[in-house]
Amino acid sequence: MNEIRHHLTDGLLMSYSAGTLPEAFSLVVATHVSLCDECRARMDSFDAVGGALLGDSDEVSVSEDALEATMALIDAAPQIVQPANISGPDAILPAPLQQYVGGDADAIRWRPIGGGVRQAVLDTGGEASVRLLAIPGGAAMPDHGHRGMELTLVLQGAFRDEEDRFGRGDVEVANEDLHHTPVAEEGVECICLAATDAPLRFKGIIPRIAQKFIGI
Ligand code: ZN
Ligand code: ZN
Repeated sequence: MNEIRHHLTDGLLMSYSAGTLPEAFSLVVATHVSLCDECRARMDSFDAVGGALLGDSDEVSVSEDALEATMALIDAAPQIVQPANISGPDAILPAPLQQYVGGDADAIRWRPIGGGVRQAVLDTGGEASVRLLAIPGGAAMPDHGHRGMELTLVLQGAFRDEEDRFGRGDVEVANEDLHHTPVAEEGVECICLAATDAPLRFKGIIPRIAQKFIGI
């Protein structure tokens, strides 16, 4: 199995455990955790702490509901009766993501957004948005900065940027401090799950015009 080198921050895992993340970010966290034993173990320890705190609280009923709803994203996955089209461990899309897409990668309803890149925006509530992106091997995304947080989880292939290389299971946590130009590695198409809570900051005029139509 491919070794995961880029993980979620404690802050993200704690917020997820507390049920305070927007749905789009929760989906990225749940999907990474489903691929990553290390983050799953850290998450379990935060859940244990959270559970102990809830035990002392007067607002147990509300908080437990929120916690349960959040945990359902990962924990319920193996227990829920899966639709017949949910694929097994060799799937490109891990189980939490397959539930949004309604199947594995062949069920994704891609739309071309130029330069051979395709995207599929997933339906989530809240202020953040999340999309699947498919970038041809060797192609670059326009260089951009961030007004908020961007989580990018690689599902197939790999990309590189000014920070490092990101392969399957790796997650890049970008914020206002990072300006980068992700480039898909030569070879297989790079498929990522990307969540943002604010529009990206593009440098060039063409990407800025395209941004209106793509909604990224
Ligand atoms: Zn991890
Ligand atoms: Zn970015």
